[in-house]
Amino acid sequence: MKIQCNICGSKQEITPAHKDYSSVKKNSKYPYICEFCARKIQFELQGANDIYKPTSFPKISC
Ligand SMILES: [Zn+2]
Repeated sequence: MKIQCNICGSKQEITPAHKDYSSVKKNSKYPYICEFCARKIQFELQGANDIYKPTSFPKISC
């Protein structure tokens, strides 16, 4: 099944073994995020928490 990343827009082929496969199959609007973007977000959030106080820094939206 072809799926598009909600963030970078890159199309990927996923198999039924993929953790998001059933969610996407049930809901085509499911906000899928590719592995690359998921890792990037996780990294950015961790970095932000290290540098800024969570209360003084709004959520990253990209
Ligand atoms: Zn992506």
